[in-house]
Amino acid sequence: MIIQRVVLNSRPGKNGVPVAENFRLEQSTIADTIQVGQVRVRTLYLSVDPYMRCRMNEDTGSDYLLPWQLSEVADGGGIGVVEESKHDNLAKGDFVTSFNWPWQTVAILDGSLLQKLVPQLVNGRLSYFLGAAGITGLTALLGIREKGHVAAGANQTMVVSGAAGACGSLAGQIGRLEGCSRVVGIAGTDEKCSILVQEMGFDAAINYKKGNVAEQLRELCPGGVDVYFDNVGGDISDTVISQMNQNSHIILCGQISQYNKDVPYPPPLPPDIEKIQKERNITRERFLVLNYMDKQEASVLQLCQWIQEGKLKVRETMVEGLANIGDAFQSMMNGGNIGKQIVSVSK
Ligand code: NAP
Repeated sequence: MIIQRVVLNSRPGKNGVPVAENFRLEQSTIADTIQVGQVRVRTLYLSVDPYMRCRMNEDTGSDYLLPWQLSEVADGGGIGVVEESKHDNLAKGDFVTSFNWPWQTVAILDGSLLQKLVPQLVNGRLSYFLGAAGITGLTALLGIREKGHVAAGANQTMVVSGAAGACGSLAGQIGRLEGCSRVVGIAGTDEKCSILVQEMGFDAAINYKKGNVAEQLRELCPGGVDVYFDNVGGDISDTVISQMNQNSHIILCGQISQYNKDVPYPPPLPPDIEKIQKERNITRERFLVLNYMDKQEASVLQLCQWIQEGKLKVRETMVEGLANIGDAFQSMMNGGNIGKQIVSVSK
């Protein structure tokens, strides 16, 4: 059977900026028949995520991420529909997902590595299982629960960087649902800031590309910062940490501003900021959602419930067509997305 697939065409290099041309669409073939235990699936949605930047390097710098190989098919979070099954628990028409879905239109996969999805849990919005009801939502929820020390009634102020992105937009809302009394976001455009406040219930948002972030933060967080959900690292995080309270907590979710640089993860803080962190006893422990998969099932149900109740507002930036996945990745890394960046493959 003839299929389309996207392979890694070139590496941006350790300190390079990734571009759409790092990926290549090509025609390929898969077997016409499947073996016992396998399923043939048609791809519906693919996720593009910041961590993929590390997979574009020859050495990802982490033990849990494998590098993509040149001229081989890329992979990541994906959702598809079963077209033919020789696996006992899966039938034609089932919707399934995997963290390692190949970037191709049709694939033959091992059925035991797929999770079955229940579309009703997300009001039929299947792609939410890659975002708000998937790994992104889990990252926001478990990051807050495991590292945030948020307590209802404690009058805590939370700041979120990368706030209009996939994790950030959920993290601010979940911070509020879990008990924070004030939530302030930091994002890269006025439109994003307005969505955070008007739609997602943030108390305020700062456009870090305009004006003085430190001054605005002081005005918007007069009692200092108790919880910082850090998606970006770099200068923005140094500014936030400088305004954090004694015994406060950083949720070290990601450091996207550093992903095109050859630095270790997590990148060390500059000496003056590290001094503040130590003097004020601010926790900054590494958080990796994959370490908490024993809480996946219950947490996904919680996220789905919030979505159904309208308590969690979800935004997606949808790009049509496998051929455009490189553009979608480049755009997301440059701030072109609001909420979760998804590629729709079926059309
Ligand atoms: P995302 O926020 O949807 O997309 C990336 C966003 O980051 C862009 O839209 C852009 O928005 C912002 N950005 C890019 N370069 C920036 C820079 N130099 N400075 C400040 N902001 C910048 O991505 P996501 O999927 O939600 O991931 C957010 C973070 O969580 C990433 O660091 C990711 O690696 C991490 N993550 C961690 C885990 C975990 O287990 N710890 C799991 C999933 C994701 P602006 O317009 O605001 O610049």
